[in-house]
Amino acid sequence: MKREVITLDRSDRVVGDRPIHLHRNSDPVATVKEWACNSPYCEDLTGPHPDDGGAEPIVQGREPWRGGR
Ligand SMILES: [Zn+2]
Repeated sequence: MKREVITLDRSDRVVGDRPIHLHRNSDPVATVKEWACNSPYCEDLTGPHPDDGGAEPIVQGREPWRGGR
């Protein structure tokens, strides 16, 4: 049985052990074109990475509406 190894970069937004999804920015000038993330609140997976001016994914347990930062 083959196990897929996922290496995480500094540009990834993975916190905890929730299932990971990939964001892809098709903009050719983007610094980060693909990154892993496991925020449960992402809806648009084609927008820019935070390094490219996109919104920072919301971390589960630190939702702004719960008063966390
Ligand atoms: Zn995400």
